[in-house]
Amino acid sequence: MRVAIIGAGISGLATAYYLRQAKPDWEIRLFEKDDQVGGKVRSSQEKGFVFDWGPNGFLTNVDDTLDLAKNLGLADQLQVASDHARHRLLYKQGRLFDLPASPPKLLKTGLLNPYAKFRALAELSLGKASYTEESVYDFMARHFGKGVAETFAGPAVLGITAGDAKELSLDALFPRFRKLEHEHGSLIRAMMAAQQQAKASSRSSRLTSFNATGVQALSTALRDALLPCIRTAQELKLVSLEQGEYWLEFADGSVYTADKLILATPTFVMARLLTDLAPVAAAELGSIPYADVVVIGLGYDRIDVPQPLDAFGFLVARGEAVRSLGVLYSSSIFPDQAESDKVMLRVICGGSLDPEFIGLSDIEMLEVVRHDLSIAMGITAKPEFQQIVRWPRGIPQYTLGHGKKVAQIMHEIKSLSGLHLVGNAFYGVGVNDAVRDARRVVAELTT
Ligand SMILES: Cc1cc2nc3c(=O)[nH]c(=O)nc-3n(C[C@H](O)[C@H](O)[C@H](O)COP(=O)(O)OP(=O)(O)OC[C@H]3O[C@@H](n4cnc5c(N)ncnc54)[C@H](O)[C@@H]3O)c2cc1C
Repeated sequence: MRVAIIGAGISGLATAYYLRQAKPDWEIRLFEKDDQVGGKVRSSQEKGFVFDWGPNGFLTNVDDTLDLAKNLGLADQLQVASDHARHRLLYKQGRLFDLPASPPKLLKTGLLNPYAKFRALAELSLGKASYTEESVYDFMARHFGKGVAETFAGPAVLGITAGDAKELSLDALFPRFRKLEHEHGSLIRAMMAAQQQAKASSRSSRLTSFNATGVQALSTALRDALLPCIRTAQELKLVSLEQGEYWLEFADGSVYTADKLILATPTFVMARLLTDLAPVAAAELGSIPYADVVVIGLGYDRIDVPQPLDAFGFLVARGEAVRSLGVLYSSSIFPDQAESDKVMLRVICGGSLDPEFIGLSDIEMLEVVRHDLSIAMGITAKPEFQQIVRWPRGIPQYTLGHGKKVAQIMHEIKSLSGLHLVGNAFYGVGVNDAVRDARRVVAELTT
């Protein structure tokens, strides 16, 4: 059996890894367009600063990535985020506020007026309910009132997807909340119950990465485990199906034939590749929107940053004089990411509400973020380290109707025997979701 996997981001790498474990005698080839594997899961080290280009870790509330890391022999390199990371901030009305992490803290926050607080707590009286799909903003407004939705939904969604809370589907993005609503009615009651359960199980959900190297340790370990299967600098251009075999033509003119084909690229690439083979699915795949996002790493001397830095970082409410979407205090979250007298920050910019940002030059981008850091954090010094990573069409946007669209795509694809799709555009946008999706596809292939 010859299997071709296209795209060596975490989805393609994890698929190849689990498939090789399940079927050691199959010929597996993993083709990647870039000269390096990992896709968005990439980090660099320079001048003593560790800079994650995309994700800065994964959560341990589910086992997916944690199990994979342990399987790869990375258990002793795992690094759990420091306690500072529990504390998150919001930049609004020209200053930094603590983001309330519990109902009692919500009552004390200066971010809401007394009416908005009263309305938010009235959520406790909601009964069990069944609702149809709605946006994250509408869901939050229905539960907690417009005050809470305006203040928290927008920045939270921007922080996760760089998207618009009024456009994105609660059901596709956060299906757990819909389930909790169905079971408990009130989300406050559901969260109190979940906190009790978490205490009883002693399971902690913490952001986790790898010491000294950043999140790239994961893609490097997968690369090492899969070395004989990997072909880099191989961009798939054309796919055809001839007598039950997939013919794959690459940009350099080379050809590979496979019995099974797994596409692990972004969906707009899948759409191009499948135009002739599966036109209906290709049109749906091509209609999944993505947000452009830019990550800017800045390293400073500690003395130049006049902030306590005892937090994960801050999100920015829209309508402020700060254009960045948020700033992560990377060396507070993972102290290994800078020497003890230095500070590493990651500024996230762009997203679907600021699509022009990605078109700025490096100089213009640095001007914007240095201005933002000066007014939000009082930083005026020049950074010792700076790096800009642009991710055009970097994060898929689960807009209203996403779930139905994905079901339709998967249904259409079934008619092409041996073709499978995997990635973070279907059932969840994070690293854990990508790893879980890899397991789904390997189960489809091997059962
Ligand atoms: C800025 C940013 C921050 C993020 N932060 C977090 C976070 O903190 N936590 C979290 O859980 N998730 C986060 N994510 C999401 C996470 O990065 C993704 O879920 C995950 O990396 C997606 O992996 P993937 O393999 O599906 O896609 P990708 O990483 O996009 O991989 C796709 C691969 O396909 C290759 N490819 C494309 N076309 C072709 C072709 N024609 N031929 C061959 N190869 C091709 C690409 O080069 C790429 O390597 C973040 C994403 C971004 C952009």
